[in-house]
Amino acid sequence: MNQPISEPLLEVVEIDVSYGPFKAIFGASFSLPRGASLALLGPNGAGKSTLARTVSGLIKPTRGKIIFDGQDITKLSPWEITRRSLIQVPEGRGIFATLGVRENLELAFGCGNSASQTKGLIEKVFETFPRLHERSGQLAGTLSGGEQRMLALARALVSPPKLLIVDELSLGLAPVVVDDVFASLEEIKKQGTSVLLIEQHVNRALEFSDRAVVMSKGEVVLEGPVSELGDMDTILIP
Ligand code: ATP
Repeated sequence: MNQPISEPLLEVVEIDVSYGPFKAIFGASFSLPRGASLALLGPNGAGKSTLARTVSGLIKPTRGKIIFDGQDITKLSPWEITRRSLIQVPEGRGIFATLGVRENLELAFGCGNSASQTKGLIEKVFETFPRLHERSGQLAGTLSGGEQRMLALARALVSPPKLLIVDELSLGLAPVVVDDVFASLEEIKKQGTSVLLIEQHVNRALEFSDRAVVMSKGEVVLEGPVSELGDMDTILIP
């Protein structure tokens, strides 16, 4: 079903999330337009990862709803949400360490495709991630941390999703590798994928993003276009 262009791709409405008796998210709402990128910002423990994991269905909210591409996905399983083209890059490595880089990609892209289609898709991945091309014969477990995250990201892009959620993709990486990761994300965005980004490098996240949501103590305290949000240094001090 085609949705009107003006309708947001993602709408999170008044979400509460609890871990047992501990309430982590209080009435969070925000929206993400089609094709846009959004940075989810806030101090440690603010609830960013919890909110992202709720959107991708890994945690169920106790209140509120999540509308994706015009449909209510609040009660769907993570698997059903993935099928609707909302993908969260797996945390940690998300790769097969004892297989080569190309083999990892063949496993991800081979399902349902002929050998020549798979080869073509992998060539496209190598255009987006030239560093993976250079390392294509290497065992995935021997890649650097940044290269492993690029491989996990590439595996998540079996077909360009409508929405990609990336949580701390550049955590602990050298600045030069962070540059590569962001260059890859720009490529993915150019292909029309919306991106929800949780990122410790706030300035990098804001450069990349059209919109930002700022969280504090489980609440959304600010939401809007990056150009209208003002001085983030003062906003983000816990
Ligand atoms: P960080 O930037 O440090 O990763 P965050 O903003 O992503 O933080 P969350 O990881 O979402 O924050 O955590 C929000 C709150 O929920 C924190 O108080 C955290 O301790 C708590 N929390 C997170 N995961 C769990 C869990 N599995 N069980 C209980 N409490 C949890």
